[in-house]
Amino acid sequence: MTKDEILLASQECLFPSVFHYYRKPLVLVRAKDQYVWDADGHPYLDFFGGILTISAGHCNERVNRAIHDQVETLQHVSTLFPTEPQAALARKIASIAPGPGWKSFFTCSGTEANETAILAARCYTGSSEIIALRHSYHGRSSLAMGLSGQANWKIAPAAQPGIVFAHNAYCYRCPFGLTYPNCEIRCAQDVKEVIRTATTGQIAGMIAEPIQGVGGFITPPREYFSIVADIVRQHGGVFISDEVQTAWGRTGRKWWGIEHWDVTPDIVTSAKGLANGMPIGLTAARSEVAESVRKLTISTFGGGPVPTAAAKAVIDFIEQENLAGNAAEVGSYLRGRLEELKEKYPLIGDVRGMGLMQAIELVQDRVTKVPATMETLQLMEAARENGILIGRGGLDGNVIRISPPLNISRRDVDQFIQALDESFEKIAAACTASA
Ligand code: PMP
Repeated sequence: MTKDEILLASQECLFPSVFHYYRKPLVLVRAKDQYVWDADGHPYLDFFGGILTISAGHCNERVNRAIHDQVETLQHVSTLFPTEPQAALARKIASIAPGPGWKSFFTCSGTEANETAILAARCYTGSSEIIALRHSYHGRSSLAMGLSGQANWKIAPAAQPGIVFAHNAYCYRCPFGLTYPNCEIRCAQDVKEVIRTATTGQIAGMIAEPIQGVGGFITPPREYFSIVADIVRQHGGVFISDEVQTAWGRTGRKWWGIEHWDVTPDIVTSAKGLANGMPIGLTAARSEVAESVRKLTISTFGGGPVPTAAAKAVIDFIEQENLAGNAAEVGSYLRGRLEELKEKYPLIGDVRGMGLMQAIELVQDRVTKVPATMETLQLMEAARENGILIGRGGLDGNVIRISPPLNISRRDVDQFIQALDESFEKIAAACTASA
């Protein structure tokens, strides 16, 4: 198909809800390591990584070798039969899980991973009530839309009984108008108030992303999750860490994002970066929670030989190459370079994140903090023209999400920052010209 045929077929034959980035959507045809190429042969430095999924670099040789070997050997038999790839992956995950004796359930997406986590929390506690956070994103099924705290991502009628929302730890726009650390983490106490006023008082659990991904890499202060997890447990619930974006070393040094807050969750969910682009969902839970899911439940494709072989190869690659360490080291370099851009461009109101999960929030001015949504779109377009791919997020679509593969170098960061700087120059010049 030609580029135009691809665009036409996408427009005519896909649900209109399948939206694309950019005024003129970018047709990608091949990728290697940190680069992707469009249909006209132009290369782009990919600093969004297929939405935080390309953890080991595009078309990673070791991961692809594992995939090819598995496709040639045993492709699908369903989970009615034990297979080595699934068993080996479950064994590996048990060895790096937040606690001893953890068990895994595999599906095909982050959405299904969260569905399974909520099911397990409900089976284990006998309660159906769940606390979620405002600005969260947990997936696209009815339940997962119901858990998500952003109107843009809830297709009506998505309301689900038994889910209530607490304020999030959004320090840049504190929902209580306070400033850290004098706030005494007021937002964490909101979880208690919500449980006491909007539930029966005995809950199934709480689901939260360590860093809210789609919400714009909103990063809570370091005390937050231990206070919240205690409150949840005092009310009979389990704490679910949605690690769809934050696991596998993305946040630097640790396998799981939540480890940075010194909290041991009861359940973790993941997907995205686990298999470098092969569809996989993971729900891992401490054994008593896993054992409470008693009746028949099956995912035909979940835990299939090919995605689980890929996932094991990804984890081994991350471990052997110390990519969690690289995410910390190169991530802190990237952070420093983004802070320099903040000095230069008043449009940047906040820089936040951890490891190779960094964001910049754009505002019309730093006092009113009015979201610079239009300018963010312009920046996306300019960045594309300058050969870099970045992501967008935030309730107002005014946050740039930066999440390259975990095996990039400082040189890639320098190349990226130069292109981003030029993109800011370009839109700053356009803003002055039109003022
Ligand atoms: N949880 C989080 C934190 C996510 O970011 C996402 C996807 N953006 C999901 C769940 C849903 O994952 P999937 O799209 O694989 O269903």
